[in-house]
Amino acid sequence: MSPPDRDAIEGLGHATRGLAWEEPLLFERSRPGRTGVDLDPLDVPEVDAQALLGAEAVRETIPELPELSEMDVVRHFTRLSTQNYAVELGLYPLGSCTMKYNPKLNEKAARLPGFAEIHPLQPPALAQGILGLMANLEDALAEISGMDRVSLQPAAGAQGELAGIMMIRALHEQRGDRRKKVLIPDSAHGTNPASAALNDFECVPIPSGPDGVLHPEAVAELMAPDVAGLMLTNPNTLGLFEEHIVRICEIVHEQGGLVYGDGANLNALMGVARLGDMGVDVIHFNLHKTFSTPHGGGGPGAGPVGVKNILAPHLPVPIIRREQNPERYALDYEFPHSIGRLHGGFGNVGMLVRAWAYIRSLGPDGVRRCAEMAVLNANYLLARLRERWHVPYDRPVMHECVLSDRLLEETGVTTLDVAKRLIDYGYHPPTIYFPLIVHGAIMIEPTESESLEGLDRFVEALLAIEREAHENPDLVREAPHRTPRSRLDETRAARRPVLRWQPES
Ligand SMILES: *Cc1c(COP(=O)(O)O)cnc(C)c1O
Repeated sequence: MSPPDRDAIEGLGHATRGLAWEEPLLFERSRPGRTGVDLDPLDVPEVDAQALLGAEAVRETIPELPELSEMDVVRHFTRLSTQNYAVELGLYPLGSCTMKYNPKLNEKAARLPGFAEIHPLQPPALAQGILGLMANLEDALAEISGMDRVSLQPAAGAQGELAGIMMIRALHEQRGDRRKKVLIPDSAHGTNPASAALNDFECVPIPSGPDGVLHPEAVAELMAPDVAGLMLTNPNTLGLFEEHIVRICEIVHEQGGLVYGDGANLNALMGVARLGDMGVDVIHFNLHKTFSTPHGGGGPGAGPVGVKNILAPHLPVPIIRREQNPERYALDYEFPHSIGRLHGGFGNVGMLVRAWAYIRSLGPDGVRRCAEMAVLNANYLLARLRERWHVPYDRPVMHECVLSDRLLEETGVTTLDVAKRLIDYGYHPPTIYFPLIVHGAIMIEPTESESLEGLDRFVEALLAIEREAHENPDLVREAPHRTPRSRLDETRAARRPVLRWQPES
C-alpha cells in the first residue's frame, strides 16, 4: 500500500481528500468471531422457534454476515462519509438543481421535537402549531409567486407538476371541454412532458427562437381550441428570462388554455418578480432547491403547488382552513372537484419547517437579495468564461449559464471529459448534456452561496481544463485520475448491476 499522493491533493481544497483511498467492504474486513455487541445471558424461557413459526420460517444456518467490532463499523462509515461530495465541502455547480448552502439554523428548527416527532395521524386539534406554520408558509409562497392559493402536499417538483396538470385537466373536464394537447418548449425539463403524458395529454413541442427564448408567433401557430395549456419554465433551462411571457400567456388564454409555470428556477426571481403577475395560472415550487431543504441522495423533498382562484376548487385535499377568533386551524376534505389526496399525513413536514425558517430568517429583503446574488454570480462566471469557452446563447443570464464544448472540437475532448476532469480539481461536475437543444451542454448554476474567491477558483479550474484540452488532451480524456475508480461502464452498471457481495470461491 502506498500513501495518498499529498501533492496531488494540495490545492484542491478538501473536496477530493477522501477520494484518495480505497475503502474495503465490511465483508472484507470481517474476522471470524469478532463482535460488536455483548448480549446479556437469556433471562426468559427459551422457545422452539420451529414449533412456533413453522419450519419454513426458520433458518437452519446463520447467513454469512460480516463479523466486526463497533469501532470497525464506525470507522468504515465515517470514512465513507468523507468520500461523499457535499455542498459543505465545496461549490456544487449542478445547473437547474440549485445546490446552494442550507443554513444549519433551519436544520435545527426542523429537529425541534414538537415538529420532528409529530405523528402523521395526529388529529388537527393536537397539531395546531404545525398547521399554523403550514398555513403561514402557504401564504408566504403565494405572496412570493403572485398566486392566490397554495397546497403544500406534493412531495417533489415532479409531483407538483403532476398536480398542476391534473387541476388543468379537471377544470376543462368540469367545463365539458375535451382538450387533448399540451404545448411544451423544446428546452423544458423532462418532468414537464412526463406530467402531461401521465394525464393522457399529447405533448406538442414548441421550438425556442434563435435567441433561446420562446416567441409569441411560435406559440400562436400551435395554440388551438384542443390545447389544454402550455407549460413554461421561467427563467428557462438555458438560464434565460422568457421575456415574452406576458404576451404568450394572453395567446394561450384567448383560446381557453391555461399556463403552467415550472417554478423550479424560482431562485432567480424570488422577491424580484412574480410568475403570477405575468399571467401564469399554476406553478410548482421546489422547496429542495430554492427554500433550504438539502437535496441529492434521494432524500425527501417538497414541491408545493400554487394556483390562481380559477383552479382553487381543484386543489388537493385536505385544505388547511384558518378560523379567526379564536385563531384555529382545521382540515377540510369536502371539495367535490378536488383532484384528491396526493400525500399521506401532513406532507413532508420537515421540509416545510425548513422553508418557513428560511423565509422568516431572511425576511423579504433577504429573499430578494438571494435572487440578486444568484443572478450576479451566474453573470460573473459567464463574463469570465466566455473568453475561452463557447457560449451558445451569449446574453445576460439569470441564475445559471450554459456553455458548450464546441471550441474543444479539434482536441477530441468532450463535455463528459471536462466534467470528469473537474472531479480532479475537487469539484462536483455541473449538469451536462442538458438542455438537449445545446450540443455538449455544460450547465452551471453557482447559486448565491458562493463568495467571489470561490467563483474565481472554479473559473480557474475550467480555464485550466480548457488549456489542458489543447495541450494534453489525453489527460482530460482519461480523467478522473485522483479517484479510486476512474471511468465506470455506466451502461453495464445499469443493465447488469452487481448488488450483492459474493465470497471469493
Ligand atoms: C428540478 C426540476 C424539476 C423537477 O423537480 P423534482 O423535485 O426533481 O421532481 C422540474 N423542472 C425543472 C426546471 C427543474 O429544474
